Amino acid sequence: MTDQPASRTALVLFSGGQDSATCLAWALQRFARVETLGFDYGQRHVIELQCRDNLLAGMRSLRPDWTGKLGENHTLAIPTLAEISDTALTRNVAIEMGEGGLPNTFVPGRNLVFLTFAAALAYRRGISHIVGGMCETDYSGYPDCRDDTIKALQAALNLGMARQFELHTPLMRLDKAATWSLAHELGEAGLVDLIRERSHTCYLGERGARHDWGYGCGECPACRLRAKGWREYAARTA
Ligand code: ZN
Repeated sequence: MTDQPASRTALVLFSGGQDSATCLAWALQRFARVETLGFDYGQRHVIELQCRDNLLAGMRSLRPDWTGKLGENHTLAIPTLAEISDTALTRNVAIEMGEGGLPNTFVPGRNLVFLTFAAALAYRRGISHIVGGMCETDYSGYPDCRDDTIKALQAALNLGMARQFELHTPLMRLDKAATWSLAHELGEAGLVDLIRERSHTCYLGERGARHDWGYGCGECPACRLRAKGWREYAARTA
């Protein structure tokens, strides 16, 4: 069976972080055309959105075959999410672990909302493949990153929109060190360096200090997870 052009197009949830940058490269290796989608939900580090542009520019210059595949870069504003969350991502509150082992950066159902908006956009654009960086290995306890959740949501979206969407989560079973290895597999040292330099992970939105794993405060849970993954990856490849 030959694929129709639209069925060879993917929409990648692209926040500008390490995970979504790796997912973007993964999609560029597999699909004929790739569009990207970022959400502006009032997070206090708009820096994430700037990192998206820098990463996209870097991806274009890294591989000529990727340049031709990259399509529209969409941004959807969802200010409502900030209204219903009470976390360090959207307000000036210190990041700490709350009840049930969930950090207070958790926005309940955030990925469900993101994927539903992504599917609505994909529907309009005739795209059936949606790629996200959800991961249940390093998931910090977020229940909307679990594989079961994603599978259930895919079924709900397909029923509710009468489409055959496929939700791809290439990082689902990987830890952060394995995610760096995947980046190397997809784009060798050039891609690893690009993601290290230009992606953003820090919850506090800091890009002042340059560590061997990239920029960030070095202290928040996201920085610590990224640093740990980098150290394990570097030890494996040494
Ligand atoms: Zn940080």
